[in-house]
Amino acid sequence: MNPEIKSLLIDLIRCPSITPDEAGSFQVVRDYLGDEFSYESIEVAGIQNLWITKESGAGAHLCLAGHLDVVPPGEGWHYVPFEPIEEAGYLYGRGTQDMKAGVAAMLYAAKHSAFEGTLSLLLTADEEGEAIYGTKAVLEQLRSRHQLPDMAIVAEPTCEARFGDTIKIGRRGSINGTLTLKGKSGHVAYPDKCLNPTEALSRVLPYLAGVDLDRGDAHFAPSKLVITDIRGGYEVCNLTPGSIKLMFNVRNSTATDHGALEAYLKRVLQEAEIVDYELSIKPSSMPFMTPEGPLSRTLSEAIAHHCAITPQLGTGGGTSDARYFGAFGVPVVEFGPVNDRIHAPDERVPLEDVQKLAMILLDTVEAIAR
Ligand SMILES: [Zn+2]
Repeated sequence: MNPEIKSLLIDLIRCPSITPDEAGSFQVVRDYLGDEFSYESIEVAGIQNLWITKESGAGAHLCLAGHLDVVPPGEGWHYVPFEPIEEAGYLYGRGTQDMKAGVAAMLYAAKHSAFEGTLSLLLTADEEGEAIYGTKAVLEQLRSRHQLPDMAIVAEPTCEARFGDTIKIGRRGSINGTLTLKGKSGHVAYPDKCLNPTEALSRVLPYLAGVDLDRGDAHFAPSKLVITDIRGGYEVCNLTPGSIKLMFNVRNSTATDHGALEAYLKRVLQEAEIVDYELSIKPSSMPFMTPEGPLSRTLSEAIAHHCAITPQLGTGGGTSDARYFGAFGVPVVEFGPVNDRIHAPDERVPLEDVQKLAMILLDTVEAIAR
């Protein structure tokens, strides 16, 4: 293991940077990169972000982006969350996978690569929370100054079973919703005097529960309507419910947006002759996809070289700040360690993978510069 990367990673993990506190981690970054880079603190609503640049000639602008905040340790640890310990090839500590290993590897690649053009690093301490004063706010500022990068790499943990197996070239969006079917409650012995919403529910449920709203494609799974809660009634056997409320979520591909979801639901309700209902649909994040191109190709080649594996190009899992680059029209890919203990006790990362990640990013940065 390269001692420089390892000690950098240990220094980062020692900062108890629970969102939105960078907890000294930005100074670790500055001390490591030194004065060859320019630093700008971008503070939004009291949240610190660090924008780092190095200009060498007139080539493209590549941004390496990530977050230094972590979720609270929680319970059940056998190690000390902010006092990293190496054991059997793993480094244990909060943030090892998500995503201080990725940040350490990005910093190493930035420091040691020869890059013709502008190389930047966008670091935030506001990713694990609401994430509106971090990457999103910095990109807004960069856009107003006409300094948006031409492309970006985010070293979030993307691999599934083996290091090198997955690059993320997009992410699904997320849409939340509620549907309330209204009726009229009454004594169970006089059903004709009630309007029981369970009967309306029975007519529409087959068209809601687990239904695929599109077919998906090579990179996205179908956008599935997933019901998360159904409730109504009074927990008794002699009174019918006055209304039933369903909650649902759709992790949507680029083929389905909230307008299409709303139109589908209204059609289902109309065909079931249900008129007395309330429907609320709120998109919480937009899907994006960076088409296969130089960025994913270059990264795939470096991964194949260092890991002897051809990565799949995926879009699964939760959201990350890469979505903001997507929203600002910046081609973005994500690649980082195996994701099997993020936000969990005894979070850990194999040091060998961190070293490989640094070399993969270094090769990728230099290949893009060429
Ligand atoms: Zn993360």
